[in-house]
Amino acid sequence: NSAANYVGRFAPSPTGPLHIGSLVAAMASYLDAKVHHGQWLVRIEDVDGDRNVAGADAHILASLQRCGMAWDGDVTWQSRRTGLYDAALRQLGDLVYPCGCSRREIADSQLSLTGRQAQALIYPGTCRHGLAPGKTARALRLKVPQSPPCVIAFEDRWAGHISQDLTDEVGDFVIKRADGFWAYQLAVVVDDGAQGITDIVRGADLLDSTPRQLYLQQVLGLPQPTYLHVPVVVNSVGEKLSKQTGAQAFDTGAAPADLLQQALLPAARFLGMALTAGSLDDFWRQAVPAWENVLKDTCASWR
Ligand code: GLU
Repeated sequence: NSAANYVGRFAPSPTGPLHIGSLVAAMASYLDAKVHHGQWLVRIEDVDGDRNVAGADAHILASLQRCGMAWDGDVTWQSRRTGLYDAALRQLGDLVYPCGCSRREIADSQLSLTGRQAQALIYPGTCRHGLAPGKTARALRLKVPQSPPCVIAFEDRWAGHISQDLTDEVGDFVIKRADGFWAYQLAVVVDDGAQGITDIVRGADLLDSTPRQLYLQQVLGLPQPTYLHVPVVVNSVGEKLSKQTGAQAFDTGAAPADLLQQALLPAARFLGMALTAGSLDDFWRQAVPAWENVLKDTCASWR
């Protein structure tokens, strides 16, 4: 098997301390790397200068260490890698065009917006053949082929077969934002490629982004990693846990025994592992084979 070539990663955005939701993604990616005898990298995704919280990166890294999750190699920060994103932009050439549309204009161009659609606006292609008169360039968009429609499918190791029609359901998408920040979609693909990531394990809230990332990999000539999207932890009204929805940081300098009781064991239980560890060392000794069992029982495809 390809075990020795496995390179995984945890890629938190430094918007606040780790909470139980982000710990679940960290734990799943860490355990998957261990089961495959691979490397586990940590990358701080701080491209979105508006959402970064000062000190959150250091807090997250300290929490990972206190939980006993040691990463391989050096931690990387996306904010120090913008040269790579510039190079990718040059490589994309005339697949990219400037767009002068505001969110409101895009929303108004859609007849009725409900739920998910309202969040993920489908771009109607207004500026694809040149900025509409009177508009100034705001964002940069990547062209998605129009005909035949660009349908991207992949096998998620957890969720199984996933398919999205990028042409109909997404449209040309932003790779550099109106505020000048690189879009998550571009940065994540360029970094996963540059760091040789072979296996991506993260929360299912990103399933929807994966086809855009696969398309970017194709046009940039990057290899396609495998994906495993674990279920996301939600609060009592069904919202994904995040700082915005009131997630509590679990690591307030707690003793290892408290970390275990308040964070690691509940996160493991959420992932389907009923562990009884009494110490951190014990926890990780039990968790690696337990994750292997979760994969065998739950996953659409075992590798
Ligand atoms: N930085 C993203 C987040 O914290 C995760 C990106 C990824 O794992 O691809 O939601």
